[in-house]
Amino acid sequence: MTGPRRADILVTNIGELVTFREGPLARVDEKTAGIVRDAAVAIREGMIIDAGPRGEVEPRYSAYEVVDAEGMMVTPAFHDAHTHLVYAGSREDELELKLMGYTYAQILERGGGIHRTIRMTQEAPLENLVSQALPIARLMQNTGTATVETKSGYAVNAEGEVKMLEAAREVERITGLRTVRTLLAHVVPRDYPGDRGDYIRHFIEEAIPRVTSRKGLATYFDVFCDRGAFTLEETRRLVEAALRHGFRIRLHADQLEYMGCSRLAAEYPIDSLDHLDRMPPENARLLAERGTAAVLLPTSMVSMRDFDARPPVEAMRKEGVIMALGSDFNPNNQTPRMELALDLSTYLYGLTPLEALAAATVNAAYSLRIHGETGRIAPGYRAELLVWGVENHRWVGYGWGASKVALVINGNRVFEAV
Ligand SMILES: [Zn+2]
Repeated sequence: MTGPRRADILVTNIGELVTFREGPLARVDEKTAGIVRDAAVAIREGMIIDAGPRGEVEPRYSAYEVVDAEGMMVTPAFHDAHTHLVYAGSREDELELKLMGYTYAQILERGGGIHRTIRMTQEAPLENLVSQALPIARLMQNTGTATVETKSGYAVNAEGEVKMLEAAREVERITGLRTVRTLLAHVVPRDYPGDRGDYIRHFIEEAIPRVTSRKGLATYFDVFCDRGAFTLEETRRLVEAALRHGFRIRLHADQLEYMGCSRLAAEYPIDSLDHLDRMPPENARLLAERGTAAVLLPTSMVSMRDFDARPPVEAMRKEGVIMALGSDFNPNNQTPRMELALDLSTYLYGLTPLEALAAATVNAAYSLRIHGETGRIAPGYRAELLVWGVENHRWVGYGWGASKVALVINGNRVFEAV
């Protein structure tokens, strides 16, 4: 007879363990969510080695550290599929302008909005970008986020884009928060010395190759394909150049106006289309067929005060689109807390609590192409999980605005959530 095996951490007395089947999950219900009641999870060397009914798992292990979940829910940790974590300055004064009725275009004309952030970010040394992003990154970790996608895009030139991505890499090195980095063609900067055509040429001939020449600096390429940013044709040129350089693609699409951007999924391999607030429902089938994730960003609907449009979630559900979630943390939307995105996605977009959980974990991991290593609770996956202060998944949405995550487990570290 062999004795119990060694585990570093045993999480036990779990009321509801949400494991999730192998992703991505186009349909999320209690079955695909892989729910186990009265469960336990064993962890060794930062990896999950066992998960299942407590009566089976617990006797198999002798653990250095036992975490008593006290009958509460345990889920995978969050992967935030869309943020703009790195930039300089802040824009808190713009809220009052918005409330006074100024449109975003008028705020831009007054020298505010994105062009202000670009100016401040371009001037800031790399160390300042890092030190501004650090407390946010730590807050993300302490609220249950294990991975954050983060973009460049507040720069005037190629050098500035590289600086932003280097800063994100430094934030990852210091905090241990995993970053998936994206080179973003955001808007034509007001201070760019040349016209639109010159800028796009500069992006293609300088920014893209310069970022690729630094190994591992960015995996993804993104274009803000929308009114006031880049046209469909400009987006095509940029995406084709990025694909030639080996980037994977995610796009800002159909947020402010429908210009056909989500249709680009028919032309290129696109891992995710983000926002989609104005995507026509009939495009959902295309996304489902192409396996393109829809990254939904409900907090930006609030911060943009854009209450007229929302993504066609019913059509997405019907067609089997893989829905993911992001916080969309950015200078205009100060919400690094993924839980708020989950909660709002239920009331504003109609996601079920389980759909919201899958969107923030297994499906967000898929949209970032890290789903082979994280996003589920199963042997062989990274030990990135959350012990909640609520008993079951129905509290997602229902307990909106409150921090319901109690403990964060990341590798062999266990810490209290804030
Ligand atoms: Zn964005």
